[in-house]
Amino acid sequence: MSTAPIQPLTAELQALDAAHYLHPFTDHQALAAKGARVITHAEGIYIWDSEGQRLLDAMSGLWCVNAGYGRRELADAAHAQMLKLPYYNSFFQTTHETAVRLAARLAELAPPVEGRRFEHVFYANSGSEANDTNLRLVRRYWDLLGQPQRKTVISRHNAYHGSTVAAASLSGMGAMHAQGDLPIPGIVHIDQPHFAQHGQPGESAHDFGLRAARWLEDKILELGPERVAAFIGEPVQGAGGVIIPPASYWPEVQRIVELYGILLISDEVICAFGRLGHWFAYEKFGMRPDLVTFAKGVTSGYVPLGGTLVGERVARVLIERGGEFNHGYTYSGHPVACAVALANLDLLQREDLPGRVRLDTGPYLAQRLAELEAHPLVGRAESCGLVAALTLLRDKAQGLPFPEEQAVGMVCRAHCFGGGLVMRAVGDRMIIAPPLVITRAQIDELMGLIVRALDATLAELR
Ligand code: PLP
Repeated sequence: MSTAPIQPLTAELQALDAAHYLHPFTDHQALAAKGARVITHAEGIYIWDSEGQRLLDAMSGLWCVNAGYGRRELADAAHAQMLKLPYYNSFFQTTHETAVRLAARLAELAPPVEGRRFEHVFYANSGSEANDTNLRLVRRYWDLLGQPQRKTVISRHNAYHGSTVAAASLSGMGAMHAQGDLPIPGIVHIDQPHFAQHGQPGESAHDFGLRAARWLEDKILELGPERVAAFIGEPVQGAGGVIIPPASYWPEVQRIVELYGILLISDEVICAFGRLGHWFAYEKFGMRPDLVTFAKGVTSGYVPLGGTLVGERVARVLIERGGEFNHGYTYSGHPVACAVALANLDLLQREDLPGRVRLDTGPYLAQRLAELEAHPLVGRAESCGLVAALTLLRDKAQGLPFPEEQAVGMVCRAHCFGGGLVMRAVGDRMIIAPPLVITRAQIDELMGLIVRALDATLAELR
């Protein structure tokens, strides 16, 4: 940790912060005791704080700055659009250019499913709002088909789908459900396909993937298929700790949802726009979703935008039989957000960042992370494209975890910050999701910083 005196700007902002700002997912007494770290500016894959420390941001902000920081063309796109048409809605039979062009562009980029394109988009401002929309969309769909009893959405424990009442209910986080009587009725959860946690002795990853997918079938049969509206899942669970399912999992889920006729929602808020080396992750995993949630990387986080790609099965019913869908947001299809998204997609495409992740930086990160398995603290290193997790273990030989009260992840995270690196801790898993512009040389630099943080963690815990 820096021992330099706290700068006046830091002290002033920390005091105002403590006095006025309620942060998301934060214990404010713990925060006040330390003072919030003030981030002042950013460039490429680096951020700076008000004490002048540079940090390699291996979390892309919050899994969102895919194009990296300081991309002038995104600022220029926002500036130009603000001068031309800063706002208009699309409620009352009006539309505007950037929202239309972005919808058409997403339809073009999203790989077809069995020859059918995702021709339609419903806009929101965040992943949470988009998942709220999804709940309303799937229930509306089944109502229109004369099956109003099909209300229940099945999700998974430890999933993260957002923080509004519906999205927090779709999420499978016990700590969130413990506050405010969640989940709301009509949302149920099955276990996650986490091999290290739920695999049985001698079971192969392939067999585990099939068994985990069949928990969905068990739940459908328990509820009665005629009552199930949809299944929602992140292709790779992000906030839950980067849980990468075995390759057998999603194809088996696909078989099951098709067998019972239920809708599949692929929540790609983290996984889309190149993070896993593809424009959309359903392509990688052999999923055939009906709805695809997006946010974050669509604008590289420069301005808020989220939404849902709506496949033909749902769109046709909604459009041809639905009349008015009584749902929408003031900022659905915000012209500035859509302009930034278009510029961002141009940039990702021009620099072929999905291809670079798939063929170059993703495999290189995996190769370098595998070396970390030799470190005495690292039990496993897992990655998929540019999202990765290191599991920290107290005793590698016996596979023993650290006791929870030791909060090993938080100890390691503090050493990361001290050494100029941002990694996130989810329990005892250290998470890595750097901007997609990261180079091989910067991955080498990242590895050096990780090893320093791991060594410092080991020294503190021994
Ligand atoms: N879905 C997934 C998979 C996410 O990872 C997140 C946020 O991390 C959300 C939904 C919620 O998105 P937002 O924070 O934009 O509401």
